[in-house]
Amino acid sequence: MSTTMQKIGIEKVKHSKIDQVDFDNLSFGSVFTDHMLVCDYKDGAWETPKITPYQPITLDPSSKIFHYGQSIFEGMKAYKDTENKVWLFRPLDNFKRLNISAKRMAIPEIPEEYFMEGLKALVEVDKNWIPQKDGSSLYIRPFVFASGKGFHASPANEYKFLICLAPSGSYFSGKVKVLIEETYSRSANGGVGYAKAGGNYAGQFYPTQLAAEKGYSQVIWTDDNNHEYIEEAGAMNIFVRINDTLITGPTSDRILDGITRKSILQIAEDEGIATEVRKITVTEVVEAAKNGSLKEMFGAGTAAVISPIATFGFRDVDYDLPELKDSFATRLKKRITDIQFNRAEDPFGWRL
Ligand code: PMP
Repeated sequence: MSTTMQKIGIEKVKHSKIDQVDFDNLSFGSVFTDHMLVCDYKDGAWETPKITPYQPITLDPSSKIFHYGQSIFEGMKAYKDTENKVWLFRPLDNFKRLNISAKRMAIPEIPEEYFMEGLKALVEVDKNWIPQKDGSSLYIRPFVFASGKGFHASPANEYKFLICLAPSGSYFSGKVKVLIEETYSRSANGGVGYAKAGGNYAGQFYPTQLAAEKGYSQVIWTDDNNHEYIEEAGAMNIFVRINDTLITGPTSDRILDGITRKSILQIAEDEGIATEVRKITVTEVVEAAKNGSLKEMFGAGTAAVISPIATFGFRDVDYDLPELKDSFATRLKKRITDIQFNRAEDPFGWRL
């Protein structure tokens, strides 16, 4: 979609709240920067984005977001290197995925320039908020929702696209214990699992609460048909290492095309690690755990980068994974974060 964008207007805060923030104790996504980007869709077109002070938004109670859940989002990060230079990681991929989600949810697509120029301008305005501490970064949340009014169950005629920023500390998930889910499904063929639609996440909360009551911190989603294949780990893609082969499932209607997942696949190949993209059955994972060939399982996503799984539960039996000194998880996490933080060459051209 080509557009001629007017200059992005910037209204800065009179007083920054940055001094009130304890940058040594940041939890994920709970402190927000001084500014946000706002862009409205009205009369069949997206208006030029503007940067305003971070503030609440007012909506009509009949806005379709509240009733029919027309809402999508993205998750990405900005990183600061030791020379205070700011980097984004594959932002165009997030832009493209946002529009894939938009299409599926009958939301008008965002012009590339609005997203990319808006994102860069906002990060520039709030660049002092990007934490300097090792492993910390600025979490970026672009999102779009139906602000248009009316109870008629049809797509809205007005939307809002916003970007908010949240400085975040490095994410150590600790020893993750997960449950292979056989009752509930995250997504289905022909459904919206491949989109980052808000409702996908609301639907995960209840099964995850049930798993938490049994002592598991996350759910491993399996296919909705026969719960035969391992598909995702909570809100992360999943990798399994059997002997020395790293395996992840193919993307589909049911699986989000994760940017961390595809980056890890490319890095692993570059490192000479044998990779396979194929369906992984629950049976083969359980068998591999029993015979000792299951070496690692981990989730991959923007927030935690790589989150190693220590234990998985299946039909009331817990299976512990070995503690490896030289795991693929550690090696791959180092490679990808070294690229993100500009500590190493970027042979793939991912940094921007
Ligand atoms: N799967 C789901 C369901 C997710 O919500 C996410 C987080 N965006 C991912 C996988 C990982 O995607 P990415 O690596 O692009 O963050």
